[in-house]
Amino acid sequence: MRIASDAKMIIEILEQAGYEAFAVGGCVRDFLMGRPCDDMDITTSARPAETEKILNNHQIKCIETGLKHGTITAVTDGGSFEITTYRTDGAYTDNRHPEHVEFVTDIKEDLSRRDFTINAMAYNDRAGIVDLFGGRDDLDKKIIRAVGDPDKRFKEDALRIMRAIRFASVLSFDIETQTKKAIFNNKELLKNVSYERIFTELSKLLLGENVFNVLMEYREVIGVVIPELLAIFHIPQNTKWHIYDVWEHTCKSVEAAPKDLALRLTMLLHDIGKAYAKTTDENGTDHFKGHQKISAEYARTALKRLKVPNEIYDRVMFLVPIHDMHIGTDRKKIKKWLSKVGEKGLRDLIEVKRADKLAQNPEMTERELSNLGVTQKELDRIIREGEPFTVKALAVNGYDLISLGCRGEEIGEKLALLLQKVIDGELENDKESLITYLKQKEV
Ligand code: ATP
Ligand code: MG
Repeated sequence: MRIASDAKMIIEILEQAGYEAFAVGGCVRDFLMGRPCDDMDITTSARPAETEKILNNHQIKCIETGLKHGTITAVTDGGSFEITTYRTDGAYTDNRHPEHVEFVTDIKEDLSRRDFTINAMAYNDRAGIVDLFGGRDDLDKKIIRAVGDPDKRFKEDALRIMRAIRFASVLSFDIETQTKKAIFNNKELLKNVSYERIFTELSKLLLGENVFNVLMEYREVIGVVIPELLAIFHIPQNTKWHIYDVWEHTCKSVEAAPKDLALRLTMLLHDIGKAYAKTTDENGTDHFKGHQKISAEYARTALKRLKVPNEIYDRVMFLVPIHDMHIGTDRKKIKKWLSKVGEKGLRDLIEVKRADKLAQNPEMTERELSNLGVTQKELDRIIREGEPFTVKALAVNGYDLISLGCRGEEIGEKLALLLQKVIDGELENDKESLITYLKQKEV
């Protein structure tokens, strides 16, 4: 295995000082799968204070990032590396934190506290791959299997339930039968886990390659962390637009959206309101009038509980209530949208609409999908050609209007009017035309 040269250097320094040290966990797994790895963790038999002393003697800076858990971070020109002393976790009392950690001297004990066999391997050049729980075999078979008794492991730390389905999504692996059984049996324990930790795993899950299958198969787990979704797990939609029920449509739309967390969260939450807005007419056709706003209310509650970062929260809350508004392919219309929601907002909306359509009845969506392509091309052209769509881009500004005698709110109103005229093609965006127009209007 080839490991980052600075990690290799740290491992060699510690081993030369008489300790054991290995690359461990995710980076070994990713290397064996031929995937890139950006955080390389190191495990060592040296205690934190010893590690720090040895590395300092080699002019390597250390930061005490998690002394309580035996972790320090070494900082080199090539990056930073978490170095954790071999440890076992003490008793767990609340399904999330070990009471205390205990340092040990045998790597076997350290590997056995790790969550899944594929994450419980270590490597250094001296010993090669250390694989005591069949991790390599499970990697070959594409299986996620708990290290030890899955039921006990999920009771110790319920976050592992989210981690299991996250890896199933990201790596496109299956979960081994007993591990799967224990996931469903213990899912309620996720309520004891902090939402920050849950959100980290959920985010990775949503961006995974296999997200559709995982959301379908493990909906009951997702329902524990976002109970707002429970309402749409089994809602048929008898309309010509749909061939899937609301949940399957939701999962398809998540998968169809670009790998951008805000867009994928938007798709996950966009149709919750359908559970509350459904009506069936005399022909047996279902309608979901007004579901978008209801979805937005449930989305707000869910996002707040998950403590989603502001930037993502704002984008999702902007998109959910307008997810199926008409944009159009006409330049003027697109520029009006741009003036209201900005370039990023409109690009997001196009992606959301496309993902939504891709998850509907393909016989009904061809035109709409091709229109979205046209809208996108027009949008690109407007941006490329620098056509104005904000008051800022106008050839006059507030000061020009003040010198024409405008005051207070009138300034904003006039600028908005000018923009409207420019977008409609009734006025050229040059100072003279705009000012002439305003002067004429006064008389
Ligand atoms: P990623 O590629 O997303 O970083 P990872 O496997 O490296 O995946 P980390 O959260 O960085 O995941 O954790 C590093 C290692 O620590 C894991 O590979 C695993 O061995 C161990 N680990 C992490 N979280 C847990 C947990 N909750 N229970 C047991 N072991 C864990
Ligand atoms: Mg990692």
